[in-house]
Amino acid sequence: MGFSSALQGKSAHDALLSRQDAELRLLEIMKRCLLQKVKCDKEYAIALTAAAQLGLKIDRADDLQGSQIMKVWRSFMEEWEQTAKQFKSNAEFLESLCQDKLTHLYQDKRKTRKNYQEEHQKIATQFTNITEDVTRKKCEYQKHLEYYKLLRSKFEEHYIKAGRGGRKLDDVRDKYQKACRKLHLAHNEYVLLISEASEVETDFRTILLPGLLEHQQSIQEDFVVVWKGILQEASQYSDLTSNSFQDIQRKIESNIQSIHPAEEYREFTERHKTSPPAPVVFQFDQTLIEDKDTLGKLQPNTLTVDNLTVDWLRNRLTELETSVKECQEKQSKLENGTSVTVSIPSTLTLTNGRKESNKHSKDFTVLRCQEKQMLKLADLIKTALNEVGCEELPSGCDDISVDPSFIENNISNNDQQPMSHAAAAFILQKSNEVLSMIKAFKRKTNSNGANGATTTKTDASNSSVPQSKRTSAMTLSTNRPLYEEEWFHGVLPREEVVRLLKNEGDFLVRETIRNDESQIVLSVCWNGHKHFIVQTTIDGHYRFEGPAFPSIQELIMHQHLSELPVTGRSGAVLKRPVTREVWELSNDDVILLDKIGRGNFGDVYKARLKSSKNEVAVKTCRMTLPDEQKRKFLQEGRILKQYDHPNIVKLIGICVQKQPIMIVMELVHGGSLLSFLRKNNATLNTKQLIGMCRDAAAGMRYLESKNCIHRDLAARNCLIGYENIVKISDFGMSREEEEYIVSDGMKQIPIKWTAPEALNFGKYTSLCDVWSYGILIWEIFSKGDTPYAGMSNSRARERIDAGYRMPAPECATPEIYRLMLKCWAYEPDTRPHFDEIYTIVDSL
Ligand code: ADP
Repeated sequence: MGFSSALQGKSAHDALLSRQDAELRLLEIMKRCLLQKVKCDKEYAIALTAAAQLGLKIDRADDLQGSQIMKVWRSFMEEWEQTAKQFKSNAEFLESLCQDKLTHLYQDKRKTRKNYQEEHQKIATQFTNITEDVTRKKCEYQKHLEYYKLLRSKFEEHYIKAGRGGRKLDDVRDKYQKACRKLHLAHNEYVLLISEASEVETDFRTILLPGLLEHQQSIQEDFVVVWKGILQEASQYSDLTSNSFQDIQRKIESNIQSIHPAEEYREFTERHKTSPPAPVVFQFDQTLIEDKDTLGKLQPNTLTVDNLTVDWLRNRLTELETSVKECQEKQSKLENGTSVTVSIPSTLTLTNGRKESNKHSKDFTVLRCQEKQMLKLADLIKTALNEVGCEELPSGCDDISVDPSFIENNISNNDQQPMSHAAAAFILQKSNEVLSMIKAFKRKTNSNGANGATTTKTDASNSSVPQSKRTSAMTLSTNRPLYEEEWFHGVLPREEVVRLLKNEGDFLVRETIRNDESQIVLSVCWNGHKHFIVQTTIDGHYRFEGPAFPSIQELIMHQHLSELPVTGRSGAVLKRPVTREVWELSNDDVILLDKIGRGNFGDVYKARLKSSKNEVAVKTCRMTLPDEQKRKFLQEGRILKQYDHPNIVKLIGICVQKQPIMIVMELVHGGSLLSFLRKNNATLNTKQLIGMCRDAAAGMRYLESKNCIHRDLAARNCLIGYENIVKISDFGMSREEEEYIVSDGMKQIPIKWTAPEALNFGKYTSLCDVWSYGILIWEIFSKGDTPYAGMSNSRARERIDAGYRMPAPECATPEIYRLMLKCWAYEPDTRPHFDEIYTIVDSL
């Protein structure tokens, strides 16, 4: 059953037209889709070529010479390039298939549809016309028939009425005859037309329409042949299993098969052949403990067992013993064939039996070695612990300021290194001499009415004390309070003490506060630095190992003049008293006036120096703060002491003779820059603001040149003086280092002022100060606004890491904002140094 018989009806004709429309649409979609594939394949080819190029960037050096893996890899990559080429050429074929064949097929099908429609229209019209003609003829026929009937009845009527003759009758007869003729003509025409119409109808139904449909079917089937061919070609150009691809795959696989593990390192081993290395001897570096003074108890290759290490050693021993046990268990499991986890790469777990057994024996060896090593360490510790046995553990630390009991042991007669009889006799004799000397001195000063005079006369005639000593003893007196003595340094931090005692025999006396109790300590430079706590006897006298004295001054004088060692064990002799430096002011040198601020450690006062009557600023440290905090408080003084620059607040001195300890600084009249900016925001002009930025840059440039990292640069920590001069202050967090790594967490870090690398890695350099300087100038130009307003610290930190930077403050010039952004460069190395910053700001 074909089109010709099945599709003659009207609805079938409409359906055939719709079908052809649908096919045209399908062709369009196919073309679009195939072209899309062409695009993808071309892009894939490009990407694959790039990947292969990357894969071919193999180490050019000889290191992989002779490697089969490398060779195979190279050819692998070359095959990828080949694959890419194949993809590209297939895509090009497919493209031309779409452009040519598919396009032509589309055009031809459109034309055919049009022809079919026109042809169908034509024959259908012919049939319609003739049908209409027949209808029309039939109407005419009817009209003629009626007219004829009318005239015939008229003629009959006249004929009956008028008889055979008369003119009227002739007339009627004539008309009747004409009507009859017309009727007959119409009849004939109708008969002919009916016949023609029958012919036409038969032709239309049996020849023309079936012929058209048959023709149409055959054309459409021809198109299907073409279409099928196109699909076949498209499939062929998309075939990833085609011979060309299979060839490529075969080559890759056979290359990989050619890798033989045993061959891989043959050439390499040949080339780098060396003789086995000589054993490395690990020896204790004796220079590490050359300083016998501080490290006297540490012996090379010997474990130190004392009160500081014994617990650690015991724990370590337990750990080792547990590990040895575990190790032994693993070994026995291995022996029994149970698998244990030892460090073998996971990629090797699926290897064959030979490898598996290799691995086992290797694991076993590793475990044996580990066991042996641990047993040796455990033995070492056990022996060391056994040697101490149940004796009282020796003290591990000589530092008497850390462990006061040590000094007591040290100066007691039960010293572990007892003095020889001769030495003891010598010390006794010396002590007696000095005692009588001091007594004579006291008599004399009392009779002279001397009252704490700075000069002290000794009775040289009855003494064996050297003349030189007698001269240096002039700086020692006995009658004034201890804190007035020039060599008494109050609660001066230990770091400073160590710095002051430079030469053998240099000494000073200071105070430490331990558990709320004050202790007087004698610090001496002797084979390093030694610190001795002054002992108090039951009757309130003072002593070290020798005789006791009613005052500390007398005790110190005795030690100094007699040249006797403070303790037999240390051998430390007091040669030269080190007096206070200019910056070590006495608390009484300062008169506190008004409170002008409040710092982290205590109140800040305006004050007057007794000596010069100058006004100064004094930072006080609350007495109740722990020692550690007090040390931190003084850190600022220690750092500031070395600096002298108009834009750095100047240190005048520290007062550590007694509590409260204080830092005395130049008074900067405007107080904190932040409050100043907020108070005067309506009147400050751009020039003044730039001036402040320049001052801060000058101060920071100076600090950077001194390798000082401030770490807390912010408007709140700058002071403002006359003519709006800005001075950098608050050095509480500063460090004198090129790079400072914080390891103890991030407590109290000013997050919004701190550079990302310091927050993220604890790494501080001057470039972190540069970041803070950016925030400082933002504060200056926003006249005291809070940075990242409305954002919590953690939010600000997150956003900065994500690239956010604050917008320019309203009155910032473009140059200033550019500078801020430079300071806020994420990578520290791309930030400007203060030298450059100063030049930029100065030029503004
Ligand atoms: P801390 O370092 O303990 O936090 P600051 O250095 O911040 O203390 O000082 C607190 C306040 O004291 C400052 O904001 C400022 O108002 C005032 N101040 C500090 N040093 C001086 C000074 N040298 N001259 C004038 N005022 C000062």
